[in-house]
Amino acid sequence: MADRRRVRLEVEGIVQGVGFRPFLHRLAARLHLGGWCRNTTAGVTLELEGDAEDLAAFRAALRREAPPLAVIERVRETPCPSPLGERAFRILESERVPGRAALVSPDIATCPDCLRELRDRRDRRYRYPFLNCTNCGPRFTILRRLPYDRENTSMAPWAMCPDCRREYGNISDRRYHAQPDCCPVCGPRLSFLDGAGRPVEGDPVARAAERIAAGGIVAVKGLGGYHLACLPDRPEIVAELRRRKRRDERPLAVLCRDVAAARRWCHISEEEAARLTSPRAPIVLLEKRTGLPDTLSETRELGILLPYTPVHHLLMDHFDALVLTSANLSDAPVLCDDAEALETFRHALPVEGILTHPREIVNRCDDSLLRVFRGRDYFFRRSRGYAPQPVELPEAADGVLACGAEQKASFCLTRGREAFLSAHIGDLKNLAVLEHYRAQIARFQDRFGIAATRLACDLHPDYLSTDYARARSRAEGLPLVMVQHHHAHMAACMADNRLTGPCIGLVWDGTGYGSDGTTWGAECLTGDCEGAVRRASMRPIALPGGDRCMQEIGRVAHSLLWDLGCPERSDCPNGARLTQMLGAGLNCPPSSGMGRLLDGVYALLTGRQTVSYEGQGAVLLEAMAGRDESAFPVSFYEERGLARLDTRPILAALLEELDKGVPAETLAARFLNTLVLAAVGQCRAAREQTGLRHVVLSGGVFQNRYLLPRVMDALEEAGFVPHCHSRVAANDEGLALGQTMIAAKGGGIPCAWPYP
Ligand code: ZN
Ligand code: ZN
Ligand code: FE
Repeated sequence: MADRRRVRLEVEGIVQGVGFRPFLHRLAARLHLGGWCRNTTAGVTLELEGDAEDLAAFRAALRREAPPLAVIERVRETPCPSPLGERAFRILESERVPGRAALVSPDIATCPDCLRELRDRRDRRYRYPFLNCTNCGPRFTILRRLPYDRENTSMAPWAMCPDCRREYGNISDRRYHAQPDCCPVCGPRLSFLDGAGRPVEGDPVARAAERIAAGGIVAVKGLGGYHLACLPDRPEIVAELRRRKRRDERPLAVLCRDVAAARRWCHISEEEAARLTSPRAPIVLLEKRTGLPDTLSETRELGILLPYTPVHHLLMDHFDALVLTSANLSDAPVLCDDAEALETFRHALPVEGILTHPREIVNRCDDSLLRVFRGRDYFFRRSRGYAPQPVELPEAADGVLACGAEQKASFCLTRGREAFLSAHIGDLKNLAVLEHYRAQIARFQDRFGIAATRLACDLHPDYLSTDYARARSRAEGLPLVMVQHHHAHMAACMADNRLTGPCIGLVWDGTGYGSDGTTWGAECLTGDCEGAVRRASMRPIALPGGDRCMQEIGRVAHSLLWDLGCPERSDCPNGARLTQMLGAGLNCPPSSGMGRLLDGVYALLTGRQTVSYEGQGAVLLEAMAGRDESAFPVSFYEERGLARLDTRPILAALLEELDKGVPAETLAARFLNTLVLAAVGQCRAAREQTGLRHVVLSGGVFQNRYLLPRVMDALEEAGFVPHCHSRVAANDEGLALGQTMIAAKGGGIPCAWPYP
């Protein structure tokens, strides 16, 4: 007994809400160690007492045997002065540690053990829609404040029954210290309301399934917001859903009962199946089977997800597949407040029924959306299942608040090497979205105990996120830097790939404010987080009517034809007036946005004049691209040291082929192949001036399924080392991460009141 000692361990990472304390308890018991552990706002603290040998075994097993959802980031060990003779191990009440905050687990899909109970007639949770355990269930979406204890979640109103309490207190039980644990006796209940919000008798899930099967649209309250569900294979129902959501032509996701059911819709690789069935349960973009109607998605892909809550599992007993889309009106945030949702369903967004429950959604959270690209995640939206897990930064950056873009607004808050990145919140020009954005920033600061000490925002003077940053900078006297949009994209991809040294940034997107005051978007930069130089771009397109061109893509086509000297070819209904505007240079801001070029070419090839959401033209151009390996010749001209891709000869050749009767599908492919050459050309220009070889690819255009792999391959073949995103989105959702890195490294443009 002489070598008995006592140590204190402070463990940080995702160690709350994942069965970590029970695990410590079991491990300590197995190794005959006494002491205690407790949740703190910073993580888990424990004291252990026993033989040196057993303590060493504990240390080794800590990481090796940790519960599947735990992420241990740091363990700090300090010796205690002397052993206290403690033989047993206890779990103590939680404790607040000022200035530090633990990480919170994201919400986790129903685990196989819980699923077995859901199906087991003899189990007391048979068909209970809220069952969960330490390995699964709601986390972030029910959390009000840390530490993660029941009274700090929206499960607080339900007191545990004696049976649940016994499980909660039993170390060998899967529900030992499971905070949201409940059962049919003590927990919340599901209910089904009709379209007017009146309760309907009978089994709620069965009633909801009946309404859906009869062709109705039913709202389903989920983890992070309400969804709308309807039959996927009846075009008139899907059209009705789109009509009620107003003008929405965006692809819809399909909830499938299981992977086998999903295979009837899409081709699914093993890697993709693993994402679908993972505890994070994102929507995975998959290649559609041929012959599938375009009603759900006009592209070659379809977003599929599998059930991730018990309610989904029960509902999918009645269906193989259902459309499941977030319940919101056009650009408004997804509904999550019950009163607001009921009001909306009664009037603005009518439904045939509402499957709901009284557990409050504390944190709104959209479904995550990704594609598997070369074995890694390629995010379109990183949210449920991932948030609020931080992205690890290549270097520490304390107290930075980066305010993101405007149309796909997001923000990022940092603490040490942890970047807490919000999912994109929507378009700030929508007042409800702007309010949500402000509130979310305040909550993140509060929840993770981060005081913003410096701010970063986009260079765009009129972005509402810029407004927000300026107002806070002024009110709180915080230093603010403005960061050029494409430089931020580049830095985001550098951080994503843990690159810190200088490299080439190939950033193609729709719109970003350039440092010359014009709109950029087909940019090749070189540099690092401290600064970047614009090396290559493309010939600007004059946009008659400015922002109207985002949806009225016929205007872009007209402008391209005007630039070629043949505006009379345009199908645009108000062509004469556009020609006048272009000639006079009236309200025709120039843009080198690749998104606009893709829109314009799509309009030229198809005659289509309008799209319903930004980037739709580009998405449809990709979808129509046929098989063709050739490309149009690519040339650049120089303008004050900048290599500009000349779009004129490319478009002239495209029109010539179109006139000869070459199918538009072939020309779409040939045009995209041409852009691959243009990408390599831009990087070559940058390499000639700097000798750099590493290229980071960012911007929404690289979400294009046709372009991304081809540009990566072509760059590699030309001797470059290309890197794409895998931890954050390439679109403006990821922008705040880049702004953060640039602000942390002293880059960007310092900005002080009075603002320019
Ligand atoms: Zn479970
Ligand atoms: Zn109970
Ligand atoms: Fe962008």
